[in-house]
Amino acid sequence: MKRIRIGPEERVFVLTGAGVSAESGLKTFRDQGGLWEGHRVEDVATPEAWAENAARVWRFYSQRRRDALKAEPNVAHRSLAAMERALGERFFLCTQNVDDLHERAGSRRLVHMHGELFASRCEFSGAGMGAFACAAKPFHDEALYESDAAIARCACGGRIRPHIVWFGETPLKMNRIEREIAQATTMLVAGTSGAVYPAASFVNWAEPQARRIYIGPEEPANAGSFTQIVLGKAGEVLPELFEVG
Ligand code: NAD
Repeated sequence: MKRIRIGPEERVFVLTGAGVSAESGLKTFRDQGGLWEGHRVEDVATPEAWAENAARVWRFYSQRRRDALKAEPNVAHRSLAAMERALGERFFLCTQNVDDLHERAGSRRLVHMHGELFASRCEFSGAGMGAFACAAKPFHDEALYESDAAIARCACGGRIRPHIVWFGETPLKMNRIEREIAQATTMLVAGTSGAVYPAASFVNWAEPQARRIYIGPEEPANAGSFTQIVLGKAGEVLPELFEVG
């Protein structure tokens, strides 16, 4: 594998998806024909699903919490944390993953654009609530809620929901993400199908002269937007591909 050198003036923006956690035993949903751990996404990861059956949604995320607590960061997570240590402020990581394996591997300059599995918030807080918004902030939460009666309540009376960006909701930290992409000389995308927007369009927001590299076992849906595709598992490719000069 020909190594890619990251020069002293370069800035790297990384986007990761579910594939980067696959080698830690957390399943992606593209690999299972549109199901996430046996569930239709519409039944567990949309505002409509929450309105229809909040306990079912919480049972799903409670199980994801259990699974993530048992999982360990893999070589891909650790390689990206090492790259951050080498590049410092010239490195930025945006993950679509809701698990905490990147931070457990040591990543610090990262955002979770689709929210965090181990955070919860009032259902009336966050963007899109207008004049009726609750001002309560998201909080760290490892609890399991598996019935309607078990779902905790905010002081305002709202139910506590996962701090997750469901399909149809607005991703988080988009201003920061746009700023970081605009400065990047290398965009590295790993383990994401290129089918979930807006993340799939980030590669097109990079400056025209930026290198745009994809790593994963199969070509993503937006393969044509990359300058280089490296086929392989993130945990096998990432430790070998880059040298920081
Ligand atoms: P996806 O399920 O749509 O696609 C996964 C991609 O990973 C596929 O392209 C597949 O080829 C690739 N892949 C599989 N094994 C890999 C490996 N070892 N190394 C590198 N790549 C590998 O995932 P997505 O594009 O991230 O979109 C799914 C959405 O669902 C995300 O927004 C995320 O919020 C959510 N999700 C999160 C998790 C998690 O937090 N661990 C898991 C499943 C889904």
